[in-house]
This record gives sequence, C-alpha cells and structure tokens, in this order.
Amino acid sequence: MRSECIGAARRILCVFPRYTSAFGTWEHAYPLTDGVQAFMPPQGLLLIASYLPEHWPVRFVDENIRSATCEDFEWADAVLVSGMHIQRHQMNEICRRAHAFGLPVAIGGPSVSACPDYYPSFDYLHVGELGDATDELIARIAHDASRPKRQVVVKTVERLPMTNFPVPAYELAEMKKYFLANIQYSSGCPYQCEFCDIPALYGRNPRIKRPEQIIAELDKILECGVISTVYFVDDNFIGNRKAALELLPHLVEWQKRTGYVMRLACEATLNIAKRPEILEKMREAYFVTVFCGIETPDPDALKAMHKDQNMMVPILDGVQTINSYGMEVVSGIIMGLDTDKPDTSNALLEFVAQSRIALLAINLLQALPKTPLWDRLAREKRLILDQDRESNVDFRLPYDEVVDAWRQCMKIAFEPEWLFARYLHQVKYTYRNRIELPASPERRSWANIKRAVIMLRNIFWKVGVRGDYRKVFWKFAFACLRRGDIEGLISSAMIAHHAILYAREAAQGRQNASNYSVRLREAA
Ligand code: SF4
Repeated sequence: MRSECIGAARRILCVFPRYTSAFGTWEHAYPLTDGVQAFMPPQGLLLIASYLPEHWPVRFVDENIRSATCEDFEWADAVLVSGMHIQRHQMNEICRRAHAFGLPVAIGGPSVSACPDYYPSFDYLHVGELGDATDELIARIAHDASRPKRQVVVKTVERLPMTNFPVPAYELAEMKKYFLANIQYSSGCPYQCEFCDIPALYGRNPRIKRPEQIIAELDKILECGVISTVYFVDDNFIGNRKAALELLPHLVEWQKRTGYVMRLACEATLNIAKRPEILEKMREAYFVTVFCGIETPDPDALKAMHKDQNMMVPILDGVQTINSYGMEVVSGIIMGLDTDKPDTSNALLEFVAQSRIALLAINLLQALPKTPLWDRLAREKRLILDQDRESNVDFRLPYDEVVDAWRQCMKIAFEPEWLFARYLHQVKYTYRNRIELPASPERRSWANIKRAVIMLRNIFWKVGVRGDYRKVFWKFAFACLRRGDIEGLISSAMIAHHAILYAREAAQGRQNASNYSVRLREAA
C-alpha cells in the first residue's frame, strides 16, 4: 500500500550515500563483471520511494553509481536520505549539499534510528521503521516544503505491518548495475547476541511479508533485467522457521516458472543445520550461499556473547550439513573479544583449515549503540570514541596486538593458494550437491550467455593473464572446467579476486578492521 496523503504533490529526491570500502562490498570484483558498479540496492529507500503518494514524482540516486547533480537538487522539492553508521559522514555531506539549494532534508534508516544525535543538521529525523512517523513526515512535507525552523523528529510508534508493505521501487534503480539484487522477507530476530543491534531496532518477534509479496518482488526484479543472485537481507532467514517453511515452496515454484535464472542467498543462524526440512527446500529453491554469523569457534566466547544458538550443533558438523545441501557457508568472524587470548588467531586459522570455509568476513569487535555490548562497555568505561582507532572497544589484550593479529589473519586466510584450495573443496564437495538445473530457455537466453561470456573473458584476461596469482587461478579453473562447472568458476573467481586484493590492503593497514567502523577511507 501507499501513503494516502492528499496534500500538494512534491518532487522527492532520494539519495543513497556512497559506501566506505569494506570486505563485503566486493568492489574489486566489479571489473570482472559485465558492468556492475555498486553492491546492493538500498531496500529502505526504495521502499519509502514506493510508499510515497502516487502523484508525487520521485527520483532516486545511488551515489555509489553516480553523484546527485545540481540538476537533481534543482528539480527536487525535498530530499530523503538513508543509510548505516558507516555512511554517516557521507549522509551529513548530502545534507549539506541539499541545504545549499535551500531544500528540506529528511533522514531515515538504521543509523538515525539508533543514533539521532549523529545528524544535527537534518531538518527531519525519521526514527524507526515505516509507519505512523512516515505518514507524519509525508504530511508535513505536503503541507509545507520549506525548511522547518528547527529540527523535527518523528518517531514510529505504530509500524506498518509488513503484509502491507508495497513492492520497493526497484524500477527506479539501475538494477543491472548492482552486484546483488536483494529482497526482505522478515524483520527482527529472536536471539540476543551481545554485540548485535537488530533485536533493539527491529524487535525479537520477527515480522514477515506474505509469500505472494515476495513473489511479486522477485517478478519485478526479473522485469528489471536482473539475472544473477538475489540476497535475502533478513537478519535471520529462519528467525521464524514456520514462515520460512511457508515461503520456500513458493520460491521453488517461482524458480520453476522462471527457468532457474536466479541464484538465491540468505543470512541464517547456524542452527539451520538442525532443520533438514528447511535445508531440503532451500536446495530445491536453489539457495547457493548461507551467511552464518559463526563469530568464533571458541565455545567460551560464544557463551560470553550469548550466542548459544551456535552451540546447538558442533560448528564443523553444522557447516558440513549445510554444504551437503549444496549451500556454501560464508562466515562472519569477530576478533578482539574479551575472551580472546594471544593464540586466538592460530585457533581461528585452524578453524578455517578444518571447516574449509572459503569466505570469511573477519572483523574486529566494534560496539554499536543500542546493544548490550555498548551498555556493558560503557559501564566498564571501555568505550573509546576516537575515530583514529580501528575499533571503539578498549580490548583486554593490547590494542596493537589485536590489530596486528587481525591483519595477519586476513593475510594468511586469503593467500591465493590457500583460498583457491578451499574453493576447490567447495566445488568438489558442496557445489556438486546442488540440484541439476534445467536447460530452460531462460538459462539458454542470449542475455544469460552473453553475460557469462563477458565475465569469463574478464576473468581470464584480468586474472588468468595479467593477475599475479595466475598459476594458482589456472589450477583451479582447469579443475572447474573439467567438471563443467562454469558457474562455480565464475562466482568463485570473482569473489576470490576481491578477497585477495582486499586482504592485501588490510594487511598493509589500508582497510578498516571493522565493517562497522566509522573511520573513512576512500572507496577503492
Ligand atoms: S542471531 Fe544474528 S541477527 Fe540475531 S541477534 Fe544474533 S547476530 Fe543479531
């Protein structure tokens, strides 16, 4: 549904700020693709764009693809911005630019909802999710499109049920220029990991959309020309297991109807390994990757961070179970925990060796506002709000030791030889468990074949001929080609290329040690 505001029509410019380079933004992989320029379209901003009154013209600019121009600002009556903490400086900068044109600027999304005081210059702060605050904001702008005399804060008390969410305005985004398309089925998570702000921001009782809404969104993404991967950005895809089970048959049907041109991926807790009925359906729906916040292989550390759900199955068994359904596990890992010891990095690398997980997002612990961790560290006077540090946590171990251990882990974990050995294991023991895809007309379409050819050409030339790890690459590539696994070759080579280059920069101190850090470095 849309807002029913009947006031004057306003031209709304939605601007999404540039990301700071991070392990999970994959920018080193873009040159190997067929023209990707940014990571994922912003769900929140596209949702608001489609919720605005029907008669309001909307323009959307993702500054990861192009900057908002003077012409954009001159066209607009008001500007909407959204983003995460890591984009804080960029959001404040967009506000400054919009004000130069005398425009009122509103900010919504996760960062302002957790920390309204980060955004003193904005005219409107939208705190919380889509709901009554959104209606109030729209009504205010409809009533008066000039800048208010002082900052107005609107807070959502009554959220719009997710079953009433409109399909995000994917058509406004240049969907083919994104590395991944994305979709949101649920919001919230029942667990309470100490470092995580999801339960406080979105609740512990996951709210969900109807399966028909997801199918409509997938149809629209396909209409926008996307034929790659759709990532379910739900904080925990099995936060509501019953709902996940309800959705999956619809996804299977959709894949059959549309010829399996799309790969699916999601985030879920590791205890998904205890649910064969869910895993089997995910396999059928062609989920190829599950991001699991494993965080640490140390049981004492898991207990301390209240991540008991990771102990419901032995971690290595859990990873293997997920792999046996054709899904690769990507793991989140945190270093700098209070339980870390001087040999923690060795234990971590041993875990990488045993689990054969190819891709790990290794981060230094960062305390986020609205988390139990933040409150505890504040009580213990261990929050250090100094933007020159890699983390705001006063670690138990010496700071330099922790940062060096992180850099060493990144360097070793993503040495080309070791990384491709793990990918080869995935090709042999995970990818082969995937369903055999039909030779559908959609998969054999010219667009699909052309895309694969372009990516192969880029990979062979930029990595296989000009890359400094080409020998290792070719060993892996020939193994894939012998198996006829072109898809595995393309996806692994692209991701590996980013990981290798990013890890080298990290080891040299040229990348942030925490994806949540507000330190700014230029995007690569
Ligand atoms: S399981 Fe994931 S989303 Fe849920 S509280 Fe823990 S870290 Fe956050």
